[in-house]
Amino acid sequence: MKLVVVGGGISGLATAFRIRERFEAHGRPLEIQVLEAAERLGGKIRTEDRDGYRVEWGPNGFLDGKPETLELCRDLGIEGDLLPSDETASKRFVFSDGALHRVPESPVSFFRSPLLSVGGRLRIIKEAWAPATPPGLDTSIAEFGRRRLGKEAAEKLLDPMVSGIFAGDPAVMSLASCFPRIVEMEQEHGSLLRAMVALQKQRTKERRAGESDGGENSAKSGPKAGGGPSGPAGRLTSFRGGMEFLVRVLEERLGNSVRKECAVTSLIPEETDGRRGYRIRYRHQGVEQELSADAVVLAVPAYEAKQILTRMEPAVGEHLACIPYAPLVVVGLGFPRDAAPGDLDGFGFLVPYREGSPVLGSLWTSSIFPERAPQDFVLTRNMVGGWRNGWAVSLEEEELEELASGVLEQALGARGSTSFRICMRHAKAIPLYFIGHARRLEAIEERLAQFPGVYLTGNAFRGVALNDCTREALRIARRVEEDLIVGSAPGQEAAR
Ligand SMILES: Cc1cc2nc3c(=O)[nH]c(=O)nc-3n(C[C@H](O)[C@H](O)[C@H](O)COP(=O)(O)OP(=O)(O)OC[C@H]3O[C@@H](n4cnc5c(N)ncnc54)[C@H](O)[C@@H]3O)c2cc1C
Repeated sequence: MKLVVVGGGISGLATAFRIRERFEAHGRPLEIQVLEAAERLGGKIRTEDRDGYRVEWGPNGFLDGKPETLELCRDLGIEGDLLPSDETASKRFVFSDGALHRVPESPVSFFRSPLLSVGGRLRIIKEAWAPATPPGLDTSIAEFGRRRLGKEAAEKLLDPMVSGIFAGDPAVMSLASCFPRIVEMEQEHGSLLRAMVALQKQRTKERRAGESDGGENSAKSGPKAGGGPSGPAGRLTSFRGGMEFLVRVLEERLGNSVRKECAVTSLIPEETDGRRGYRIRYRHQGVEQELSADAVVLAVPAYEAKQILTRMEPAVGEHLACIPYAPLVVVGLGFPRDAAPGDLDGFGFLVPYREGSPVLGSLWTSSIFPERAPQDFVLTRNMVGGWRNGWAVSLEEEELEELASGVLEQALGARGSTSFRICMRHAKAIPLYFIGHARRLEAIEERLAQFPGVYLTGNAFRGVALNDCTREALRIARRVEEDLIVGSAPGQEAAR
């Protein structure tokens, strides 16, 4: 069996690794190649060491509240290289109405917090009786937030969460596609408040059970069901060598299956000796080349998958072209500790859109992972731009620094004196799941069903977090196993 994975970001690498595992488990031969357009692997994951600072161009880490990335690390034998965020990262803030407010972690602290006005806090209590989302309606995050939590909470709490994860606009983004868990909570409990109470009870029960078994289970590695100190979704976790360490280990494991500087341009169905497969055209060092495979996994951004698939199935290409991407610049700013804008005691802060700033938030990297800045220096990571402030991405470095420093000063009360600056620009940083995204995926799947052995994955479809990419890697590997090893993919069956 010959299989090609197009794209060497985390989705492509993890999928290739998982598929190879499946074939090995069945004792079936597999010739697998990963074709990556760039000179390096990792896609959005890129760690750079500069002037004693360790900066991340893309993800800072992943949350340990879900199992798939942790399981991947376990299967790669690199659990010992994991770096959990510092305790101090449990303190998260929102910059609202000109002041920094700690994000409340319990119902009591929530009702005491001045982040929302008294009216806004009381409005949240009414959430328990808010009208439910009509079944099957793909509502926007903003509409859902206003209906259930009230306008103020939607703007001060939900909006910055959407900026923090997607750099997107809650008014046009699909709640069901971006936050499927929230939809489940509403459906199961009729209210988010009731769902949270139920979750709290379950956690207490689990904690007690853990205590009574002498901590046996809690000592085992695995997702922290109750959430780590960094919030309900888990603790931010990276690697000592930065996020690119994971990419390097996958590259090493995949060995000579990986080929860089191979930009795939098209996919063409072909039939050779009654065996159905695909011809993959790609460009390597300016030369057009091609190879044949029985199956192909596309793990590239949607706009690239569009180019590759349009000739084979134009309707899929059109759907893929409609998945937009938010632009973003990550502005890394370092300061001597005694000339920093504040003590940076916490994870950092998010900025609601209503504050009128193109700065989406600031993460205090050296507080989250202390070794990321030289001794006596601190590092901040400031996100600028996003879907609603795309113009800011093309600003000059000095202007970006000025914007980020200005917000840090407003939030922390002092103007820091920068000693380090790096601007990491992403013209297409994060795919946005607009209303209708799920319908679009269905339409794509329906069309692709005509082409057995072609699989689509990557962060453009079912979640943008690393945990989503590693979960999808497993899902695709299981589908490949079902179709090409145990099941019967039409056409391929003849080849066995
Ligand atoms: C600034 C930023 C911060 C983030 N922070 C976090 C975070 O803290 N936690 C988290 O969980 N997630 C975070 N994310 C999201 C996460 O990093 C991404 O969703 C994930 O890395 C995407 O991986 P991917 O493999 O799906 O796509 P990509 O990383 O985009 O990889 C796609 C690969 O395909 C290659 N390619 C493209 N076209 C072709 C072609 N024609 N032929 C061959 N190869 C091709 C590309 O070169 C690339 O290597 C962040 C993202 C960004 C941008």
